[in-house]
Amino acid sequence: MAAIDGLPPLREVIATHELVAKKALGQNFLLDLNLTAKIARAAGDLTGCDVLEVGPGPGGLTRGLLAEGARRVLAVEKDSRCLPALAEIAAHYPGRLEVINGDALAVDVLAHLTPPIRIAANLPYNVGTELLIRWLTPAVWPPFWQSLTLMFQKEVAERIVAKPGTDHYGRLALLAQWRAEAKIVMVLPPEAFTPAPKVHSAVVHLTALPAPRYPADPAVLERVVAAGFNQRRKMLRSSLKGVHPRIDALLEEAGIPPTERAERVSLEQFCHLARLVAAG
Ligand code: SAM
Repeated sequence: MAAIDGLPPLREVIATHELVAKKALGQNFLLDLNLTAKIARAAGDLTGCDVLEVGPGPGGLTRGLLAEGARRVLAVEKDSRCLPALAEIAAHYPGRLEVINGDALAVDVLAHLTPPIRIAANLPYNVGTELLIRWLTPAVWPPFWQSLTLMFQKEVAERIVAKPGTDHYGRLALLAQWRAEAKIVMVLPPEAFTPAPKVHSAVVHLTALPAPRYPADPAVLERVVAAGFNQRRKMLRSSLKGVHPRIDALLEEAGIPPTERAERVSLEQFCHLARLVAAG
């Protein structure tokens, strides 16, 4: 049966182009176009937006993004075997799909994008967290993107949205929630993918806030948070000893008992502490 966009069904695309999934490239494909359209809709209103997609593979999500009205999609794919399948989509949507064959960690995408920009991807698991951290820590804020709609292993998604006092709370949660609104918008079972991975996956939607929730110097905040969570079971007076010579007094001033552990400290308290550390 033909797909709704008039292009061949994804199983046929994969068979035609012999796209046998490669584990080393984190290839777990989404073949249900209803599902990829749903993920595209979770990215928000795409009309008038350029969308950056990392790892389009055979193009299921790419087709969803274009069908949902993205002005342009810039797709960065490392596996050159996928290029002919992506070229068919580009021909179907003239002038709206640009494909770069390369490593998303190395390609300078900004030269190819015009604001407003959203990012949507079923990320290769091996590079997903690294890309997310890069997108969350640009030199200037607000960043070049308005929103990120990204598929992760469910456990990683839970680390992004985690609240203080929970097992998953840590650097990733603080980094994501300091300057963005982060929500899990979909949870998918392994069978949603071909081949099926071992674990559940989840789509996280992050919206960039115009400014950080609480003021802090990014480098100092990162240093305090990293030191705190490096030894997450230790009391902060001990894990943060190297951060400031009077750390006990600064913790008290920030309203944090020095005997507390990092996993129970809120974002607001970490930002307060980072400001006190920065002030000397
Ligand atoms: N988006 C497709 C889908 O939903 O069916 C494919 C998703 S698959 C989980 C990840 C894709 O990322 C694969 O096509 C893989 O070749 C590609 N990939 C892996 N590492 C990459 C990298 N460093 N840069 C760009 N693409 C990469």
